[in-house]
Amino acid sequence: MAFESLSDKLQNVFKSLRSKGRLTEGDVKSALKEVKMALLEADVSFKVVKQFIKAVQERSVGADVMNGLNPAQMVIKIVNEELVSLMGSDTTEIQLRPGNEITVIMMAGLQGAGKTTTAAKIAGKLKSKGRKPLLAACDIYRPAAIQQLQINGEKQGVEVFTMGDKISPVDIAKAAVEHARSHNLNVVILDTAGRLHVDEEMMDELIRIKDSIQVDQTILVVDAMTGQDAVNVSEMFNQKVGIDGVILTKLDGDTRGGAALSIKATCGKPILYTGMGEKLSDLEQFYPDRMASRILG
Ligand code: GDP
Repeated sequence: MAFESLSDKLQNVFKSLRSKGRLTEGDVKSALKEVKMALLEADVSFKVVKQFIKAVQERSVGADVMNGLNPAQMVIKIVNEELVSLMGSDTTEIQLRPGNEITVIMMAGLQGAGKTTTAAKIAGKLKSKGRKPLLAACDIYRPAAIQQLQINGEKQGVEVFTMGDKISPVDIAKAAVEHARSHNLNVVILDTAGRLHVDEEMMDELIRIKDSIQVDQTILVVDAMTGQDAVNVSEMFNQKVGIDGVILTKLDGDTRGGAALSIKATCGKPILYTGMGEKLSDLEQFYPDRMASRILG
């Protein structure tokens, strides 16, 4: 399970801290050194770990904490609060236009990250909230992407708009919005093409779509199993294309979990949801406080 090793290590650090009763500055510093190691081993970005430890240390090594009734508990509370703040503190929702106005959501990400699956998961979530979504197949390059979207759309009871693989993604996106308008649908989810690595062509295509239609939300799907790569991809996409939020998939797997802790602090954009399995119902809202509790055990 994700975070297992990180949780174990942090629990050990806190256990030994609790056993000490009164704490010296040295006790706190050496405990934080171990926390630092544990975070680095969990593949949290180095820059993020450094800032995190600095913030915890500044708040922990002071008279208020040291002379308090239960200093170890105070330090643990500070670690918890700083973890929550690292992940963005509040839950961020996908922003939808009011009433029956059409919201366009563009899904982006590398091949295999889980974009097509997640597009269908999101469509199902929005449908259950009373929205009328349309999935649009804009990935004309990967064989079977269109069919995969159709199968998933059918499972969710959500219409899939496709024009085959001979029309440009920009034109498909435009036509999908028109289709939504004429069929009284109010969310268009564009499943765009992914590639094995971030490249200019993929970015340019997303930018062209953004230039041609009003995209309200650009959501990047990244694979938690890829650790620091997921963080780098988020940063690059945000710089080049501009994203509004990230969905972190495969958090059900045996990932060390660093991406969950690094993405917001690194690219500035929040995690909106986490993918917790292959089933179309396996999508969870991201709550920074619950994630911190899960990590701290
Ligand atoms: P795309 O190339 O980005 O569109 O990726 P796909 O949607 O085709 O997903 C790639 C693989 O990852 C598929 O086998 C999915 O079932 C799987 N997948 C997607 N999301 C998750 C997740 O949250 N957990 C797990 N375990 N597998 C996932």
